[in-house]
Amino acid sequence: MTHVLVIGAGVSGLIAALRLAESGCRVTMLEASDRVGGRIRTAHVGEAAVELGAEFVHGKPPELLALLEDLGLQRYDIAGTDISFAPDGTLHSHTVAEDDDTGEADPGDPFSLLSRVVEWAAAHPTDDLTFADFVRLHAPHASDVGSATGYVEGFNAADASEISVQSLAVQQRAEDSIEGGTNSHVRGGYGQLPQRLADRLKSAGGTVHLQRTVTEVRWGAAPGGPPMLCVCSNGDTFAADAAVVTLPLGVLQSGSVRFQPEPTDTLHQAGRMRMGQVCRINLVFRRRWWAEIDHPAHDALETLGFLLPEQRLPGRHFNVFWTGFPGTDPVLTAWVGGPSAAAFDHLDDHAVAHIACRDLAQIFGLSYEAVLDELTSHHLHNWQRDPLALGAYSWVPVGAVDASARMAEPVGGALFFAGEHTDTTGHWGTVHGALRSGLRAARQVLAASCPDGEAPA
Ligand SMILES: Cc1cc2nc3c(=O)[nH]c(=O)nc-3n(C[C@H](O)[C@H](O)[C@H](O)COP(=O)(O)OP(=O)(O)OC[C@H]3O[C@@H](n4cnc5c(N)ncnc54)[C@H](O)[C@@H]3O)c2cc1C
Repeated sequence: MTHVLVIGAGVSGLIAALRLAESGCRVTMLEASDRVGGRIRTAHVGEAAVELGAEFVHGKPPELLALLEDLGLQRYDIAGTDISFAPDGTLHSHTVAEDDDTGEADPGDPFSLLSRVVEWAAAHPTDDLTFADFVRLHAPHASDVGSATGYVEGFNAADASEISVQSLAVQQRAEDSIEGGTNSHVRGGYGQLPQRLADRLKSAGGTVHLQRTVTEVRWGAAPGGPPMLCVCSNGDTFAADAAVVTLPLGVLQSGSVRFQPEPTDTLHQAGRMRMGQVCRINLVFRRRWWAEIDHPAHDALETLGFLLPEQRLPGRHFNVFWTGFPGTDPVLTAWVGGPSAAAFDHLDDHAVAHIACRDLAQIFGLSYEAVLDELTSHHLHNWQRDPLALGAYSWVPVGAVDASARMAEPVGGALFFAGEHTDTTGHWGTVHGALRSGLRAARQVLAASCPDGEAPA
């Protein structure tokens, strides 16, 4: 029986481990943290499920929807009203009907720019350029540049002056194929997904070791030794035939896990990708005060979904806020991604909450004290400083659109890399991308252990 070590119990590792265990392999998971889930992490605050990492099921990715259903987890669609705020304090709501009524593409709308990115990439398949250069050449109006750049940086946690237009096109086509414009929540919190996967893995005979930080992966076998040996920081060693490595990109790049011998090309490809930065804070209030205030946009605020700036904000501000509407938890999430997030990195949670409340007060024309008065708690996880993540999620700089596919190639029939950064279908930085990569790695292990083509599909 093939024995496989799976390093990392995020969604990619858990699904790979489960598929391998169900296919008859012996599976041992090694996870550094004292919990499973990795960048899916739910805090329960009173009745509210507060997501510190992944929150949305983006679109309708078939593997993820089928898995959630199989595990008995329910979703509900996010259906709030998007509202933009202008520097002069006016709020403007966007409904689908209203936007459709105009019948014209708004040149400053990030989605219209992203369709132009897709067209450009199709017409120039062997070229690449940064999004900043693309915008300069193809949307040279100052206000357009700001909103589109803010969107691309915020959503991708990326630097517009480096991110690849070819990668954005691949990503946009991938999103279009799964109705990526829609979002849903897992009822009761996303954290149930990794927990149920781990439970099912144990039922299928797999073993999960928590608090085992892998520091060394020895493979290619010294004479007489096992084909694979993982060494942990506490001195434990685990021998096996193969390993699925799901270390986040930031951890892989940091060199904190030593490979002997080095999978040179895989690590080189990892160096070509980037790990994005995000600051998100969840503000839990006494009540949904934004739905109750006396404001000209009152009706729209009752169903507030996303709250976005009409122009890119200079200085230390959040890019976007959102509620979980139609969920009615009195929670607002504040988010900033990409280079603007760096300004938040050294701040403690209280200082970040202060900025979020100050921004909200300014947007709604309230005093800072009035917003603070409604706040009951705030929740933040600094993913950049978490040594088990070292960033939020990956993105592709100009010229590196092939890097993830090359990281996904098996090494010596013994090392198999998975994780959102190795997804080859354009869904980098997502739970469904991580899931796909884990399923792909499991298929590769099975194909390598059954070279005569007997591996299950
Ligand atoms: C703030 C934030 C918001 C997000 N929002 C969304 C969203 O709304 N929708 C969405 O689809 N995606 C979202 N994502 C992205 C999504 O969370 C990730 O793409 C996905 O969870 C990554 O899964 P993974 O298995 O690749 O990696 P991880 O979940 O990071 O798993 C890797 C595991 O390896 C472990 N590990 C690290 N080092 C070692 C070591 N040396 N030894 C052993 N184990 C180790 C880690 O502890 C971790 O458990 C978000 C991410 C962040 C940070």
